[in-house]
Amino acid sequence: MPAIRLLSDNLISQIAAGEVVERPASVLKELLENSLDAGAQSVAVSLEQGGIRRIRVSDDGSGIARADLALAMTRHATSKIASTADLERVATLGFRGEALASIASVARVTLTSRTANDEHAWRIGAEGASHGAIEPAAHAPGTTAEVSDLYVNTPARRKFLKSEATEFAHCAEVFERIALARPGLALTLRHNGRVSRHLLPATAEARTAGLLGREFGDAARELAGEVPGLRIHGYLGAPAQARGTRDAQYVFVNGRFVRDKLLAHALRQAYADVLHGDRHPAYVVFVEIDHGAVDVNVHPAKTEVRFREPHAVHQFVRHAAARALAGAAGESPVPTVSAEIAGDRLVPSARALQASLGVAQPVGTYAAMFAGARDGATPDRPAIAEPFAPAGEIDQPLGFALAQLHGIYILAQNRRGLVLVDMHAAHERILYEQLKTVLDAERSDRQQLLIPVTVQAEAVDVATLEEHAGVVAALGFEMSALSPTTIVVREVPAMLASADIPALARGLLRDLREYGGGQVLTERRNELLATLACHGAVRAHRALTAPEMNALLRRMEDTERSGQCNHGRPTWYQLSLADLDKLFLRGR
Ligand code: ADP
Ligand code: MG
Repeated sequence: MPAIRLLSDNLISQIAAGEVVERPASVLKELLENSLDAGAQSVAVSLEQGGIRRIRVSDDGSGIARADLALAMTRHATSKIASTADLERVATLGFRGEALASIASVARVTLTSRTANDEHAWRIGAEGASHGAIEPAAHAPGTTAEVSDLYVNTPARRKFLKSEATEFAHCAEVFERIALARPGLALTLRHNGRVSRHLLPATAEARTAGLLGREFGDAARELAGEVPGLRIHGYLGAPAQARGTRDAQYVFVNGRFVRDKLLAHALRQAYADVLHGDRHPAYVVFVEIDHGAVDVNVHPAKTEVRFREPHAVHQFVRHAAARALAGAAGESPVPTVSAEIAGDRLVPSARALQASLGVAQPVGTYAAMFAGARDGATPDRPAIAEPFAPAGEIDQPLGFALAQLHGIYILAQNRRGLVLVDMHAAHERILYEQLKTVLDAERSDRQQLLIPVTVQAEAVDVATLEEHAGVVAALGFEMSALSPTTIVVREVPAMLASADIPALARGLLRDLREYGGGQVLTERRNELLATLACHGAVRAHRALTAPEMNALLRRMEDTERSGQCNHGRPTWYQLSLADLDKLFLRGR
C-alpha cells in the first residue's frame, strides 16, 4: 500500500462533508472497510456492550508502517487517493482519510499494526486531537484497531444511543453486509466474549444462504447479466417468500453496500409482475461497474452513489432481474418439490433438483384402471383425463392432465413424473399477462352482458365511478350508477366475461379509489390488472373437463412468468418419479 499523504486543501474541499460517527455501527463499518481496503483475508470483530464500551477489529491485511501511524489518525490523510483524477475513479471503500480522525474525536482509539517487513508491531493511541507516543507492541502482520468508550467526552451524544441490544443489532447488520459482499473473507463476530458469528471463506451462494437462510437459498433465482463495463450478479428471493419489511434487501455497487433509489426502483419494477402490493422481496444484488462510471463521493457515509448513466443502469438492472424472475413454464420456475423424511413426518422441502433426475416410465396400470372413466366431470365426480399424451406429444413441459383434485388442483403427468397445478393461481397469471397485452395494444375486446348485472355499492363506489368514468371505459367496461347505492354493469372486457361481475366491479372501483385514476393506468397498472385477473380467473371448486385442463396447461406453457400467480404464490410444482420414490422409500 502506498505511503499516507496529507491531501491538498483543494482536494479536501472537493470531498463531501465530514464523516458522521453516529453510533457504534458506523465506527464498525469504517474499521471493517479499512481492513478490506488493506486486503485482509481474515477479520475478527469483538464488541463489548453493543460496541459502546469497545469495538475491536483485527485483520491480517497490509498493515501500516511505523512512519505512517500518526498520519493514519490525522484528518484528510489517506493512502487511497492522491488527486482529483483518483477521486473520479475510486476503487477502495475508503478515500476521505477522515474516519479514524473523526472516531478519535469522540472516543479513545488505539492502532496496533505491523507490515510484512516489520520485525514487530507498533502501537499508537489517540484521543481527541492528541496522539500518544508510538510504542513497540506484539502483533502478527496486520492491524488491530480498538475504539473504546464512544462519546465518553460528549455525553449529549451518548444519550442518543439506544439499548445495548439495539446497538449490537446495528453492528451485526453492518457485519452481515460485509460478509455478503466478501464471501471469500473469513469473519468472526464476538459480543461480550461470546462468538455470535463465525464464517469460513465460502462461495457467494453458500455465504448468501448462510446469512439469509436456507429457505432463501433454496428458492432464490440466480441473477446474472453482463454488458461491457457493467455486470450484475446475485440472488433474487422467491416472490412467495416476500415479507412485510425491506430489511432483507442488499444491494452492492463494486462491493460497497448502498441504499440506492435507482437500483431499488429497478428491482421493484422487475418484481412488480410477480409480486402484489406491499410485499418486499429479499435479494442480494451485486452491480459491478467501471469505477469511472460511478461517483461514490456523494454521501458522508458513502452509502449512496451516483451513476454517470443512470437510465442505462436502471434498464440493465430491471431487465436482468425481470429475466431472472420470468422463467416460463417448463423451465422449472418454481423449485422442484423434494420430499424429505424427518422423523416420522414428511417434510416437503423446496429444493431445485437438477435435470439429471430419472425420466418417467409410463405407468400403464393406472391408465388401464381409469380407462373409460374420463371426461363427464361433475363437482362430485372429478374429471379423469386421458393419462397418455396424444402420440408424439409426451414432451409437453407440463404434461397432460390426469385428474382434478378437490376442485383445486390439476394433476398432470409429464416425462419427469407428476405435475401439480393450482388452477386458480395459474389461470390468474395467464389472464394477467393477457390483460397486459390487450392494454398495451390499446384494444380491448368487450363483451356485452346478456343480462346487465346490478351491483349493490356504497356511495363512495358510485362517486369513484363518476370521477373515473374515462378510465373505466378505457379498460373495456361499461358501468353506470343507477341510484346512489346501485351500479349497473353492461359490458366487460371479453376475457373477464365469466368473472363474478359484482366482485369484479367492486374490486375495480376499490383499486381506482386507492391508486387514483391518474396513476392507475401508469404506475399502478399492474396492481389493477392483477385485481382484474384475480376476479376473472376460474374459481376453485369448479370442475374442469380434461380438454379444459389440458388447454390450461398449454396456455401456461405459452405464458411468461406462469410459474407464479400475481400474488407471488407458485402456480405449479413438479414431483419427479425420483421424488415419489423417495416418499415411498423405494430404491431404484
Ligand atoms: P481512509 O480509509 O478514507 O483512507 P481512514 O481514516 O479510515 O481513511 O484511514 C486512514 C489511513 O489509515 C488509510 O488510508 C490507511 O492507509 C490506513 N489504515 C487504516 N486502517 C487500516 C488497516 N486496517 N490496515 C491498513 N491500513 C489502514
Ligand atoms: Mg477508512
